[in-house]
Amino acid sequence: MSFDAEGRPALGVGEVAAQLRALGVERGGIVLVHTSFRAVRPIVNGPAGLIEALRAALGPDGTLVMPSWTGDDDAPFDPAATPCAADLGVVADTFWRMRGAARSDHPFAFAALGPQARSITDGPLPASPHAPDSPIGRVHAMDGQVLLLGVGHDADTALHLAEVIAGVPYRVPKFCTMLRSGRPVRVHYEENDHCCERFALADEWLRARGLQAEGRVGYGQARLFRARDVIALAVERLARDPCLFLHPRGAGCAECEAAWRSVAV
Ligand SMILES: [Zn+2]
Repeated sequence: MSFDAEGRPALGVGEVAAQLRALGVERGGIVLVHTSFRAVRPIVNGPAGLIEALRAALGPDGTLVMPSWTGDDDAPFDPAATPCAADLGVVADTFWRMRGAARSDHPFAFAALGPQARSITDGPLPASPHAPDSPIGRVHAMDGQVLLLGVGHDADTALHLAEVIAGVPYRVPKFCTMLRSGRPVRVHYEENDHCCERFALADEWLRARGLQAEGRVGYGQARLFRARDVIALAVERLARDPCLFLHPRGAGCAECEAAWRSVAV
């Protein structure tokens, strides 16, 4: 048996799969996972062991999905070689490399494994990373669950889709690089981006309706909910206050200030 620096024994794949099922991961369903392995370890086999546990909980008819976009705006994205953005963590960067995993062919990539993997990850570069016709949009359309494992709603991509559906007025200019006829071409786009700290409001919204399961998975805190629920609740609130997720002007948050500057006055 192996132990971490705090003397905790590494949990086996079967134990972690049982925790996931007890939390409410649906056998045969679709689950999008955002995770920080540091907050969840130790698990036997490390990040690959956690992925194995997730697949065991979903069963052969279930589809596991993870974010898989690049953090490099200047290099053309190659789904077979480009690493995930560093802040997506080691589990996401292990996942797309696994045998049989599908990965989108554009810089706003997601990766998936299971019967719905291709229908979620395929498709051209979306107009913005979290548009309805994007991998996160398809997870929503297919009524997938979202699992935040050792991370909070600040990592919850579904809330960016809610912002697009609600038509929030902020748009931060960005670019990525695509190969066109074998040459790298810079593609400019606008994204509803900010620091995402205030996405934490979703905890209260979901808890008040009993729509978020919470518990321990590995050694980390887990939140599980349906993409449809968090998006419906956020869209309802954004209709009343479209800049609800931004820190107030002058509050000293550089990323939210950049979003405010993009709002037409
Ligand atoms: Zn902020």
